[in-house]
Order: sequence, then C-alpha cells, then structure tokens
Amino acid sequence: MSSSDITLKDIYIARQRITGIVRKTPLVSSPCLSELVGSSVYLKLESLQETGSFKVRGATNKMLDLTEEQKEQGVVAASTGNHARAVAYMAQKLDIRAKICISKDVPQYRVEAIKKLGAKVILSGHSQDEAMERAFQLVEDQGMTMIHPFDDPAIIAGQGTIGLELLEQLPEIKTVLVPLSGGGLISGIALALKSADPEIRVIGVSMDTSAVMYHSLRAGEPLEMNEEYTIADALLGGIGLNNKYTFRMCQEYLDDTVLVTDDEIADGIAFALKSDHLVVEGAGAVGVAALLRRKKIEVGCKVVVIVSGGNIDLRLLLNIAREHSCRQVNRQLEGQ
Ligand SMILES: *Cc1c(COP(=O)(O)O)cnc(C)c1O
Repeated sequence: MSSSDITLKDIYIARQRITGIVRKTPLVSSPCLSELVGSSVYLKLESLQETGSFKVRGATNKMLDLTEEQKEQGVVAASTGNHARAVAYMAQKLDIRAKICISKDVPQYRVEAIKKLGAKVILSGHSQDEAMERAFQLVEDQGMTMIHPFDDPAIIAGQGTIGLELLEQLPEIKTVLVPLSGGGLISGIALALKSADPEIRVIGVSMDTSAVMYHSLRAGEPLEMNEEYTIADALLGGIGLNNKYTFRMCQEYLDDTVLVTDDEIADGIAFALKSDHLVVEGAGAVGVAALLRRKKIEVGCKVVVIVSGGNIDLRLLLNIAREHSCRQVNRQLEGQ
C-alpha cells in the first residue's frame, strides 16, 4: 500500500487480538431497500456491536497493544460519545484508568452512558476540537496514552476488521456505503476490501452540515470548519489540520463521497425502524438515507450499507417515528 503505513496484515493482527472480545456482527438483507434501489442491499449491523457502535473494534485493538507501563499510566480520549463509550467499556474490562474529555454540547444521555461505565468525564469546551485539545494536555501533563478516535494505525486496523467480515459474509460485494467523519472507519474498511479486490467501490456518506472530510478532499488539504447541529451527532468533529493517516487514505481509496440532509437522515432512521425493525442512530442511518433518496450513486448489484451505530436518544427516536406515522396518515387522507 503506497501512501499509508497501515497494511492488510495489521488488520489481520487486529482481528486476532479482538476476536472473542468484540462481536462479529450480522449482515442482513434489506428486502424493502433492495426493491427500492433495484439491487441487493445488505446492512452490516454495527448497531448491535458491544457498546452500540463499531468504535469498540479500534479502541480494543489499541488498548490491547499497550505496554504494561502504558496501561499503568491510564488512557485518555476525546469524543462525541461513541468512541468514549467504547474506550470506557474496554478500560473497565482491562482494568485501565480512563479519562474522557467531552465537549459541553454533547447530549446528556451520552455523557451519562460514559459515566456509568466507570470512566472519569471531563467536560471542556464547546466543540470536539476543544475537547481534543484538553485530552492532548492530559497526555503531556500526566503521561496518559491518547486513544485517538480515528487517526491512529491501531484504530484504523481495528475498524478494518469489518472489511474482513464483509469479505467472508458476502464475497460478491460490489459497493459499500460507509458513514464518514474522521475517516477511521472508512479507511480501515477500504484497505481491507480493496486489498481483496480494487474494483469494490467504497463510498463515504456524511451529513451536509460541517462535512469536514468531504470538503477537505475537494480542497486537497485538511480544513477546519465550525460544528453545526445535526441528528448525526456522532459524525461531528474535525479531521485535524495535521491529520497523519485518514486524509491520505481517503484520498487514495474512496471512489466517491456524498452528502445527506438531516431530514433525509431522519427518513433513514424511520425507514430502518419500520421496514427492517432496526434501531439506528443518525450517524448510522446516513447510508440508508443516501439510498432512499437515490443519490447519484453507482451501486452495482450487491451493495452493503454500514449501519455504524444504534445509540439514539429514545425521545428523538420516538419523535421521528411519530412524525413519520403522521405524515403517512396525511398522505393516505390526501389520497382519498
Ligand atoms: C464515529 C462514528 C462514525 C464515523 O467514524 P469515523 O471513523 O470518524 O469516520 C460513524 N458512525 C458512528 C455511529 C460513529 O460513532
């Protein structure tokens, strides 16, 4: 692999390390989406992963790779929620001290979930980037190890284990739609899939507000952007102006990147609930949303959508469900 320092072998090593701790998640077909799109659509359910998102794959791979001394010093992470939850969960399992820096704007239900797992929560700043600054400070002051949410070879290799599972579960896979924020998830999956077959298309999907990687790829360099509210809150956060791995890997591997609006994401959440009986969070629903709106994507005959997480606030889920059932009733009345 030319421009990256991460190889397929790292992903196989990651799989060996995390097997038995992290779930091999189901790949299920989605008959309704398949009919709509005219291709066979499958959903990879990382929403059913330990802690409710794929983040535990990378975090586990990284933490099992620490030296005894590093484990002794503890770990620190900054996160919008899912990465923090994964780090806190694994730290508790491995008996490692963990501090989690979180922006004050992260929804309360996410903060509570992390506290429950025994990690120390440090609220700081009003953006993911500010929380990250605080985390780096702790690395310097207290000698703790940073568990980066995406820009670290061990994290990317851990997320890449999803790609290995897909190759086994659906050897004929032609296209994969992957939620895209910092790019750790898509970089790992793309490396695994393209190593097997460079023809497999890898498409990133982001929300249309503050899609940092999307715009950075078009600018040819990492950009910084303001964060705006989105129901795909797990996709918030920059890629780092001094991004080391994921920007280059995205440049090298991605065939396309598309954007979806919050309304489209809400449709994706409601569709997954109604048609596939799945609880999916905003970030996890962007791929479904992209297919529903028939974004100009060349899907090929076998397409996989990575459903990256299921940690959604129950009230938000119920609101979306209610709104959708009302709209449906209205449509039926109009049709009469
Ligand atoms: C973190 C996260 C993503 C994005 O992953 P990146 O590696 O930052 O691109 C997507 N979906 C969910 C549910 C997440 O928690």
